[in-house]
Amino acid sequence: MTDTVGVLALQGDVIEHVHALQRAGARVLEVRMPEDLALVDALVVPGGESTTVIRLLERFGLIGPITERVRAGMPFWGTCMGMIVAATDVADLEQKTLGLLDVTVRRNAFGRQVDSAEVQLAIPALGPAPFPAIFIRAPWIERTGPGVEVLAEHGGHGVMVRQDHILGTSFHPELTGDDRVHAYFLRLVEEAKRTDSAA
Ligand code: GLN
Repeated sequence: MTDTVGVLALQGDVIEHVHALQRAGARVLEVRMPEDLALVDALVVPGGESTTVIRLLERFGLIGPITERVRAGMPFWGTCMGMIVAATDVADLEQKTLGLLDVTVRRNAFGRQVDSAEVQLAIPALGPAPFPAIFIRAPWIERTGPGVEVLAEHGGHGVMVRQDHILGTSFHPELTGDDRVHAYFLRLVEEAKRTDSAA
């Protein structure tokens, strides 16, 4: 059966992710309430503003349900703000995050002067062709925990990481029309399902 991938739809570039996931072959559901979360096999948190989204997650009662599902093995992918929200540590954020991805990230790390940039990024896990990575006031990864694999670096810092069924990217694959990271995530969702049913 085709997996249903949820896209957190409280704020940020939701529709771009919905379209990219659909192009990559997923059924997609926008997630706003805990009831929506119960219907999905995986969750993508898009780019946006982390301080706003953490407040909205609290208001909609989503913090507990998301952390429980992801701790129980539900695949999760955070892009930019989504990765900040998932991180265990954020260098310059007062709010509590979901604490799922064992990394320290620094917000707006590539400098406010160069707010956004497109970089041809080497991501060996996606094949030899470079990936057109769009960075928008992007965070970088300053520390990775023992279970975290760095899949891509830019300027000496991690910008794409994976910890088992959790994926984080500093950049925005949903804005490029190159759906290889979305396809990679869908493979990860498939893998997680197989591990689950084998257990
Ligand atoms: N700078 C934003 C934040 O700190 C993230 C930017 C983005 O998601 N493109 O939340």
